[in-house]
Amino acid sequence: MKLLLENVHKLYDGTDSGARALHENVDLLLENGRVSALVPHRPGAPRDPAAKVVDCSRYTVTPGLIDCHGHVTILGLREGDIGRMNGPASALWVEKVLHTTLVDGGVTTLRDVGGATHWMKRAVAEGVMLGPRLKISVCMLSTTGGHADFRGPDRCHAELSQLWPPAPGRPSSLCDGPWECRKRVRELAACGADLIKVCASPGVASPGDKLEHREFAPEELAAICDEAKARGLRVAAHAHSASGIELALTHGVHDLQHISFLDARLVDLAHQKGATVTPTSWTLFELTRAKGLPAAVMEKVKQVNEHHSTAVRHALAGELPILMGTDAVWPGMHGRNWQELVHLVRDGVPPLRVWHGATGLAAREIGATDTGTLVPGQRADLLIASADVLDDPARFEHGALLEVLQDGLGHRGLAGVPQRTFAGASRAALEALFAESRG
Ligand SMILES: [Zn+2]
Repeated sequence: MKLLLENVHKLYDGTDSGARALHENVDLLLENGRVSALVPHRPGAPRDPAAKVVDCSRYTVTPGLIDCHGHVTILGLREGDIGRMNGPASALWVEKVLHTTLVDGGVTTLRDVGGATHWMKRAVAEGVMLGPRLKISVCMLSTTGGHADFRGPDRCHAELSQLWPPAPGRPSSLCDGPWECRKRVRELAACGADLIKVCASPGVASPGDKLEHREFAPEELAAICDEAKARGLRVAAHAHSASGIELALTHGVHDLQHISFLDARLVDLAHQKGATVTPTSWTLFELTRAKGLPAAVMEKVKQVNEHHSTAVRHALAGELPILMGTDAVWPGMHGRNWQELVHLVRDGVPPLRVWHGATGLAAREIGATDTGTLVPGQRADLLIASADVLDDPARFEHGALLEVLQDGLGHRGLAGVPQRTFAGASRAALEALFAESRG
Protein backbone atom coordinates (compact mmCIF):
# COMPACT_ATOMS: atom_id res chain seq x y z
CA MET A 1 0.00 0.00 0.00
CA LYS A 2 1.36 3.41 -1.01
CA LEU A 3 0.28 6.76 0.40
CA LEU A 4 1.67 10.08 -0.80
CA LEU A 5 1.40 13.04 1.58
CA GLU A 6 1.79 15.65 -1.10
CA ASN A 7 3.27 19.12 -0.78
CA VAL A 8 3.39 19.13 3.02
CA HIS A 9 3.34 22.76 4.14
CA LYS A 10 5.73 22.15 7.05
CA LEU A 11 7.33 18.88 8.16
CA TYR A 12 9.54 18.10 11.15
CA ASP A 13 11.57 14.92 10.65
CA GLY A 14 12.52 14.29 14.31
CA THR A 15 16.26 13.93 13.68
CA ASP A 16 17.44 17.09 15.43
CA SER A 17 16.37 20.02 17.59
CA GLY A 18 17.58 22.54 14.99
CA ALA A 19 16.16 24.05 11.84
CA ARG A 20 17.80 21.41 9.63
CA ALA A 21 15.10 18.97 10.75
CA LEU A 22 12.41 21.27 9.33
CA HIS A 23 11.20 20.99 5.75
CA GLU A 24 8.71 22.99 3.73
CA ASN A 25 6.75 21.96 0.63
CA VAL A 26 7.88 18.35 0.59
CA ASP A 27 6.37 15.06 -0.54
CA LEU A 28 6.39 12.23 1.99
CA LEU A 29 5.84 8.80 0.46
CA LEU A 30 4.75 5.92 2.68
CA GLU A 31 4.91 2.36 1.49
CA ASN A 32 3.73 -0.75 3.35
CA GLY A 33 3.77 0.99 6.71
CA ARG A 34 7.21 2.54 6.29
CA VAL A 35 8.56 5.88 5.15
CA SER A 36 9.97 5.34 1.69
CA ALA A 37 10.89 8.86 0.51
CA LEU A 38 11.01 12.48 1.64
CA VAL A 39 11.67 14.78 -1.32
CA PRO A 40 11.01 18.41 -2.33
CA HIS A 41 7.61 18.85 -3.95
CA ARG A 42 7.76 19.54 -7.70
CA PRO A 43 4.44 20.84 -9.06
CA GLY A 44 3.28 18.85 -12.07
CA ALA A 45 5.85 16.07 -11.62
CA PRO A 46 4.52 12.61 -12.59
CA ARG A 47 3.01 10.65 -9.69
CA ASP A 48 3.10 6.98 -8.94
CA PRO A 49 -0.38 5.86 -10.17
CA ALA A 50 -0.49 3.18 -7.44
CA ALA A 51 -0.25 5.75 -4.64
CA LYS A 52 -3.22 7.27 -2.86
CA VAL A 53 -2.64 11.03 -2.58
CA VAL A 54 -3.51 13.42 0.24
CA ASP A 55 -3.04 17.12 -0.39
CA CYS A 56 -1.09 18.40 2.65
CA SER A 57 -0.40 21.91 1.37
CA ARG A 58 -2.14 23.39 4.43
CA TYR A 59 -0.92 20.82 6.95
CA THR A 60 1.94 20.29 9.38
CA VAL A 61 3.40 16.79 9.68
CA THR A 62 5.46 15.48 12.60
CA PRO A 63 6.59 12.06 13.82
CA GLY A 64 4.11 10.41 16.21
CA LEU A 65 4.71 11.33 19.84
CA ILE A 66 6.82 9.10 22.06
CA ASP A 67 5.67 9.37 25.66
CA CYS A 68 8.53 8.30 27.94
CA HIS A 69 6.50 8.27 31.17
CA GLY A 70 3.14 6.53 30.89
CA HIS A 71 0.93 4.52 33.26
CA VAL A 72 -1.78 2.86 31.18
CA THR A 73 -3.13 1.06 34.26
CA ILE A 74 -3.90 4.24 36.23
CA LEU A 75 -7.16 6.21 35.95
CA GLY A 76 -6.62 8.30 39.07
CA LEU A 77 -5.08 7.87 42.49
CA ARG A 78 -8.09 8.11 44.79
CA GLU A 79 -9.34 4.97 46.53
CA GLY A 80 -12.11 4.32 43.98
CA ASP A 81 -9.83 4.91 40.99
CA ILE A 82 -7.25 2.45 42.27
CA GLY A 83 -9.94 -0.08 43.14
CA ARG A 84 -11.36 0.09 39.62
CA MET A 85 -7.99 -0.80 38.13
CA ASN A 86 -7.55 -3.75 40.46
CA GLY A 87 -10.98 -5.23 39.67
CA PRO A 88 -11.96 -7.76 37.03
CA ALA A 89 -12.79 -5.08 34.44
CA SER A 90 -9.32 -3.52 34.53
CA ALA A 91 -8.36 -4.91 31.11
CA LEU A 92 -11.30 -3.08 29.53
CA TRP A 93 -10.10 0.19 31.04
CA VAL A 94 -6.55 -0.44 29.85
CA GLU A 95 -7.92 -0.93 26.34
CA LYS A 96 -9.73 2.43 26.54
CA VAL A 97 -6.62 4.19 27.85
CA LEU A 98 -4.41 2.72 25.12
CA HIS A 99 -6.92 3.64 22.42
CA THR A 100 -7.36 7.28 23.44
CA THR A 101 -3.62 7.69 24.04
CA LEU A 102 -2.98 6.73 20.42
CA VAL A 103 -5.95 8.26 18.64
CA ASP A 104 -6.50 11.46 20.65
CA GLY A 105 -3.14 11.87 22.39
CA GLY A 106 -1.09 11.29 19.23
CA VAL A 107 1.25 8.86 21.04
CA THR A 108 2.42 6.10 18.70
CA THR A 109 4.98 4.64 21.14
CA LEU A 110 4.76 4.75 24.93
CA ARG A 111 7.15 3.75 27.68
CA ASP A 112 5.02 2.58 30.60
CA VAL A 113 7.03 3.06 33.78
CA GLY A 114 4.84 1.13 36.17
CA GLY A 115 1.81 -1.11 35.87
CA ALA A 116 1.65 -2.38 32.28
CA THR A 117 2.45 -6.05 31.89
CA HIS A 118 3.74 -8.09 29.00
CA TRP A 119 0.34 -9.27 27.77
CA MET A 120 -0.65 -5.62 27.15
CA LYS A 121 2.48 -5.04 25.10
CA ARG A 122 1.85 -8.23 23.15
CA ALA A 123 -1.84 -7.45 22.58
CA VAL A 124 -0.88 -4.13 20.99
CA ALA A 125 1.93 -5.67 18.94
CA GLU A 126 -0.45 -8.34 17.62
CA GLY A 127 -3.25 -5.88 16.85
CA VAL A 128 -5.65 -7.28 19.47
CA MET A 129 -5.78 -3.83 21.10
CA LEU A 130 -5.20 -0.52 19.37
CA GLY A 131 -2.70 1.65 21.16
CA PRO A 132 0.82 2.99 21.25
CA ARG A 133 3.53 0.37 20.83
CA LEU A 134 4.74 -0.31 24.37
CA LYS A 135 8.01 -0.46 26.22
CA ILE A 136 7.36 -1.60 29.78
CA SER A 137 9.02 -1.59 33.19
CA VAL A 138 6.17 -3.76 34.66
CA CYS A 139 6.76 -2.42 38.20
CA MET A 140 7.96 0.77 39.82
CA LEU A 141 10.33 -0.49 42.48
CA SER A 142 10.11 1.15 45.88
CA THR A 143 10.81 0.31 49.50
CA THR A 144 8.14 -0.66 51.98
CA GLY A 145 6.57 2.65 52.98
CA GLY A 146 7.97 4.29 49.85
CA HIS A 147 6.40 5.83 46.75
CA ALA A 148 4.80 2.61 45.46
CA ASP A 149 3.37 1.71 48.86
CA PHE A 150 -0.25 2.87 48.69
CA ARG A 151 -2.12 1.50 51.68
CA GLY A 152 -5.76 2.00 52.48
CA PRO A 153 -6.92 4.77 54.82
CA ASP A 154 -6.36 2.50 57.83
CA ARG A 155 -2.83 1.72 56.70
CA CYS A 156 -3.47 -2.02 56.58
CA HIS A 157 -2.41 -4.41 53.80
CA ALA A 158 0.96 -4.85 55.42
CA GLU A 159 2.85 -6.36 52.52
CA LEU A 160 0.61 -5.22 49.65
CA SER A 161 0.68 -2.01 47.69
CA GLN A 162 -2.81 -1.22 46.43
CA LEU A 163 -1.32 0.76 43.57
CA TRP A 164 -0.04 -2.23 41.64
CA PRO A 165 -0.63 -5.33 43.73
CA PRO A 166 1.01 -8.46 42.37
CA ALA A 167 -0.89 -9.73 39.33
CA PRO A 168 -0.18 -12.31 36.63
CA GLY A 169 3.04 -11.11 34.98
CA ARG A 170 3.67 -8.51 37.66
CA PRO A 171 5.47 -9.15 40.95
CA SER A 172 5.17 -6.74 43.88
CA SER A 173 6.74 -3.30 43.35
CA LEU A 174 7.96 -3.31 46.96
CA CYS A 175 11.38 -4.71 47.77
CA ASP A 176 13.81 -4.21 50.64
CA GLY A 177 17.42 -5.21 51.10
CA PRO A 178 19.99 -5.73 48.33
CA TRP A 179 19.24 -9.40 47.73
CA GLU A 180 15.49 -8.97 47.55
CA CYS A 181 16.08 -6.05 45.18
CA ARG A 182 18.30 -8.21 42.98
CA LYS A 183 15.72 -10.97 42.93
CA ARG A 184 12.98 -8.50 41.94
CA VAL A 185 15.04 -7.22 39.01
CA ARG A 186 15.55 -10.82 37.90
CA GLU A 187 11.80 -11.43 38.16
CA LEU A 188 11.06 -8.30 36.14
CA ALA A 189 13.49 -9.36 33.43
CA ALA A 190 11.72 -12.73 33.35
CA CYS A 191 8.36 -10.92 33.12
CA GLY A 192 9.55 -9.17 29.94
CA ALA A 193 10.57 -5.76 31.30
CA ASP A 194 12.29 -3.50 28.76
CA LEU A 195 13.74 -1.32 31.52
CA ILE A 196 13.79 -1.10 35.30
CA LYS A 197 11.94 1.78 36.97
CA VAL A 198 12.99 2.60 40.48
CA CYS A 199 12.08 5.25 43.02
CA ALA A 200 15.24 7.04 44.05
CA SER A 201 13.30 9.53 46.16
CA PRO A 202 9.92 9.68 47.87
CA GLY A 203 6.93 10.76 45.81
CA VAL A 204 4.32 13.50 45.72
CA ALA A 205 1.11 11.52 45.28
CA SER A 206 2.00 8.74 47.71
CA PRO A 207 0.28 9.25 51.07
CA GLY A 208 2.87 7.70 53.38
CA ASP A 209 6.25 9.30 52.61
CA LYS A 210 7.78 12.77 52.85
CA LEU A 211 9.80 14.45 50.08
CA GLU A 212 12.89 15.01 52.21
CA HIS A 213 13.12 11.39 53.38
CA ARG A 214 15.20 8.65 51.82
CA GLU A 215 13.72 5.93 49.61
CA PHE A 216 16.17 3.12 48.82
CA ALA A 217 19.44 2.95 50.76
CA PRO A 218 22.58 3.24 48.58
CA GLU A 219 23.27 -0.52 48.83
CA GLU A 220 19.78 -1.30 47.53
CA LEU A 221 19.91 1.09 44.60
CA ALA A 222 23.42 -0.14 43.72
CA ALA A 223 22.11 -3.73 43.72
CA ILE A 224 19.17 -2.81 41.44
CA CYS A 225 21.34 -0.92 38.94
CA ASP A 226 24.02 -3.62 38.93
CA GLU A 227 21.49 -6.40 38.37
CA ALA A 228 19.76 -4.40 35.62
CA LYS A 229 23.07 -3.72 33.89
CA ALA A 230 23.92 -7.41 34.00
CA ARG A 231 20.74 -8.03 31.96
CA GLY A 232 21.28 -5.18 29.49
CA LEU A 233 18.42 -3.17 30.99
CA ARG A 234 18.55 0.57 31.54
CA VAL A 235 17.23 2.09 34.74
CA ALA A 236 14.90 5.09 34.90
CA ALA A 237 14.41 6.67 38.31
CA HIS A 238 11.61 8.62 39.86
CA ALA A 239 13.62 11.38 41.58
CA HIS A 240 12.34 14.65 43.06
CA SER A 241 14.82 15.45 45.85
CA ALA A 242 18.42 16.53 45.29
CA SER A 243 19.63 13.60 47.42
CA GLY A 244 17.55 11.16 45.36
CA ILE A 245 18.82 12.59 42.07
CA GLU A 246 22.40 12.34 43.31
CA LEU A 247 21.90 8.77 44.52
CA ALA A 248 20.41 7.77 41.15
CA LEU A 249 23.21 9.34 39.14
CA THR A 250 25.91 7.87 41.35
CA HIS A 251 24.69 4.34 40.71
CA GLY A 252 24.22 4.61 36.95
CA VAL A 253 20.55 5.52 36.44
CA HIS A 254 20.08 6.58 32.80
CA ASP A 255 16.98 8.73 32.94
CA LEU A 256 15.73 10.94 35.79
CA GLN A 257 11.97 11.47 36.11
CA HIS A 258 10.36 14.61 37.59
CA ILE A 259 13.68 16.29 38.68
CA SER A 260 11.94 18.87 40.93
CA PHE A 261 15.04 19.83 42.93
CA LEU A 262 17.65 19.51 40.15
CA ASP A 263 20.33 22.21 40.48
CA ALA A 264 23.43 23.28 38.54
CA ARG A 265 25.75 20.92 40.45
CA LEU A 266 23.50 17.94 39.71
CA VAL A 267 23.26 18.97 36.05
CA ASP A 268 27.07 18.69 35.87
CA LEU A 269 26.93 15.24 37.44
CA ALA A 270 24.17 14.18 35.02
CA HIS A 271 26.37 15.32 32.14
CA GLN A 272 29.33 13.31 33.39
CA LYS A 273 27.11 10.24 33.65
CA GLY A 274 25.38 10.77 30.27
CA ALA A 275 21.91 10.88 31.85
CA THR A 276 18.70 12.25 30.37
CA VAL A 277 15.81 13.96 32.18
CA THR A 278 12.04 13.56 31.85
CA PRO A 279 10.56 16.53 33.75
CA THR A 280 6.82 15.55 33.60
CA SER A 281 5.83 19.23 33.90
CA TRP A 282 2.17 18.77 32.97
CA THR A 283 1.29 16.24 35.67
CA LEU A 284 2.84 18.41 38.39
CA PHE A 285 0.68 21.29 37.18
CA GLU A 286 -2.42 19.05 37.13
CA LEU A 287 -1.69 18.03 40.72
CA THR A 288 -2.29 21.60 41.84
CA ARG A 289 -5.88 21.23 40.58
CA ALA A 290 -6.48 17.67 41.83
CA LYS A 291 -9.49 17.18 44.09
CA GLY A 292 -9.92 14.81 47.01
CA LEU A 293 -6.25 14.29 47.89
CA PRO A 294 -5.02 14.20 51.50
CA ALA A 295 -3.65 17.44 52.97
CA ALA A 296 -0.19 15.86 53.32
CA VAL A 297 -0.13 15.21 49.57
CA MET A 298 -1.26 18.76 48.74
CA GLU A 299 1.58 20.12 50.90
CA LYS A 300 4.06 18.12 48.79
CA VAL A 301 2.38 19.38 45.61
CA LYS A 302 3.07 22.93 46.77
CA GLN A 303 6.71 22.14 47.58
CA VAL A 304 7.56 20.62 44.19
CA ASN A 305 5.70 23.25 42.19
CA GLU A 306 7.74 25.99 43.87
CA HIS A 307 10.93 24.48 42.43
CA HIS A 308 10.03 22.55 39.32
CA SER A 309 10.29 25.14 36.56
CA THR A 310 13.63 26.31 37.97
CA ALA A 311 14.81 22.70 37.74
CA VAL A 312 13.73 22.50 34.08
CA ARG A 313 15.61 25.73 33.39
CA HIS A 314 18.76 24.23 34.99
CA ALA A 315 18.43 21.18 32.72
CA LEU A 316 17.97 23.46 29.74
CA ALA A 317 20.89 25.75 30.59
CA GLY A 318 23.10 22.70 31.10
CA GLU A 319 22.08 21.24 27.72
CA LEU A 320 20.81 17.99 29.24
CA PRO A 321 18.68 15.90 26.87
CA ILE A 322 15.05 16.57 27.89
CA LEU A 323 12.50 13.83 27.13
CA MET A 324 8.73 14.14 26.89
CA GLY A 325 6.85 12.14 29.51
CA THR A 326 3.31 12.79 30.70
CA ASP A 327 2.87 10.70 33.86
CA ALA A 328 -0.86 10.72 33.03
CA VAL A 329 -2.25 9.52 36.35
CA TRP A 330 -5.09 12.01 36.89
CA PRO A 331 -8.58 11.77 35.42
CA GLY A 332 -8.77 13.51 32.05
CA MET A 333 -5.06 13.25 31.21
CA HIS A 334 -5.10 10.14 29.06
CA GLY A 335 -5.64 11.17 25.43
CA ARG A 336 -4.29 14.69 25.91
CA ASN A 337 -0.65 13.64 26.03
CA TRP A 338 0.47 16.54 23.80
CA GLN A 339 -0.14 18.75 26.86
CA GLU A 340 3.34 17.84 28.08
CA LEU A 341 4.76 19.64 25.02
CA VAL A 342 2.64 22.66 25.89
CA HIS A 343 3.94 22.69 29.47
CA LEU A 344 7.60 22.18 28.54
CA VAL A 345 7.32 25.17 26.21
CA ARG A 346 5.77 27.14 29.09
CA ASP A 347 8.78 26.15 31.21
CA GLY A 348 11.00 27.85 28.63
CA VAL A 349 12.18 24.90 26.53
CA PRO A 350 12.39 25.99 22.85
CA PRO A 351 9.63 24.26 20.82
CA LEU A 352 11.96 22.28 18.55
CA ARG A 353 13.89 20.98 21.55
CA VAL A 354 10.58 19.88 23.02
CA TRP A 355 9.65 18.17 19.76
CA HIS A 356 13.00 16.41 19.50
CA GLY A 357 12.57 15.09 23.06
CA ALA A 358 9.11 13.84 22.08
CA THR A 359 10.22 12.10 18.86
CA GLY A 360 13.69 11.13 17.57
CA LEU A 361 15.62 11.72 20.80
CA ALA A 362 12.99 9.90 22.87
CA ALA A 363 13.00 6.97 20.45
CA ARG A 364 16.76 6.60 20.75
CA GLU A 365 16.76 6.84 24.53
CA ILE A 366 14.03 4.25 25.07
CA GLY A 367 15.41 1.85 22.47
CA ALA A 368 12.62 2.24 19.90
CA THR A 369 14.97 3.09 17.07
CA ASP A 370 12.67 2.14 14.18
CA THR A 371 10.34 5.04 14.93
CA GLY A 372 10.49 8.71 15.99
CA THR A 373 11.98 10.04 12.75
CA LEU A 374 10.53 10.52 9.28
CA VAL A 375 13.39 9.20 7.19
CA PRO A 376 13.29 6.35 4.67
CA GLY A 377 13.05 2.92 6.27
CA GLN A 378 11.44 4.10 9.50
CA ARG A 379 7.96 3.10 10.63
CA ALA A 380 5.32 5.45 9.21
CA ASP A 381 4.27 6.74 12.65
CA LEU A 382 3.21 10.35 12.23
CA LEU A 383 0.78 13.14 13.01
CA ILE A 384 -1.01 15.41 10.55
CA ALA A 385 -2.11 18.75 12.01
CA SER A 386 -4.22 21.53 10.57
CA ALA A 387 -2.10 24.25 12.22
CA ASP A 388 1.55 24.85 13.05
CA VAL A 389 1.90 22.75 16.20
CA LEU A 390 5.68 22.82 15.79
CA ASP A 391 5.77 26.49 16.58
CA ASP A 392 3.09 26.25 19.27
CA PRO A 393 1.93 22.83 20.54
CA ALA A 394 -0.98 24.57 22.34
CA ARG A 395 -2.72 24.51 18.95
CA PHE A 396 -3.53 20.87 19.74
CA GLU A 397 -5.89 22.25 22.40
CA HIS A 398 -7.94 23.83 19.62
CA GLY A 399 -8.46 20.71 17.54
CA ALA A 400 -5.37 20.85 15.32
CA LEU A 401 -4.81 17.08 15.40
CA LEU A 402 -6.31 15.76 12.16
CA GLU A 403 -4.78 12.34 11.86
CA VAL A 404 -2.56 9.86 13.70
CA LEU A 405 -0.82 7.26 11.55
CA GLN A 406 0.81 4.21 13.05
CA ASP A 407 2.59 1.85 10.67
CA GLY A 408 1.07 3.86 7.81
CA LEU A 409 -2.59 3.52 8.84
CA GLY A 410 -4.77 6.36 10.12
CA HIS A 411 -7.15 6.37 13.07
CA ARG A 412 -9.09 9.66 12.90
CA GLY A 413 -10.70 9.38 9.51
CA LEU A 414 -8.87 12.11 7.57
CA ALA A 415 -10.11 11.85 3.97
CA GLY A 416 -7.75 9.88 1.75
CA VAL A 417 -5.77 8.22 4.54
CA PRO A 418 -6.23 4.41 4.71
CA GLN A 419 -7.73 3.69 8.12
CA ARG A 420 -7.26 1.01 10.70
CA THR A 421 -10.53 0.42 12.50
CA PHE A 422 -11.04 -1.35 15.77
CA ALA A 423 -13.41 -3.83 14.11
CA GLY A 424 -10.87 -4.48 11.40
CA ALA A 425 -8.14 -4.95 13.95
CA SER A 426 -10.21 -7.40 16.00
CA ARG A 427 -11.08 -9.41 12.92
CA ALA A 428 -7.48 -9.43 11.75
CA ALA A 429 -6.29 -10.62 15.16
CA LEU A 430 -8.86 -13.43 15.25
CA GLU A 431 -8.12 -14.46 11.69
CA ALA A 432 -4.42 -14.62 12.48
CA LEU A 433 -5.22 -16.82 15.48
CA PHE A 434 -7.48 -19.15 13.43
CA ALA A 435 -4.91 -19.38 10.66
CA GLU A 436 -2.34 -20.39 13.27
CA SER A 437 -4.59 -23.06 14.77
CA ARG A 438 -5.36 -24.49 11.33
CA GLY A 439 -1.61 -24.79 10.80
ZN1 LIG B 1 4.92 8.03 37.16
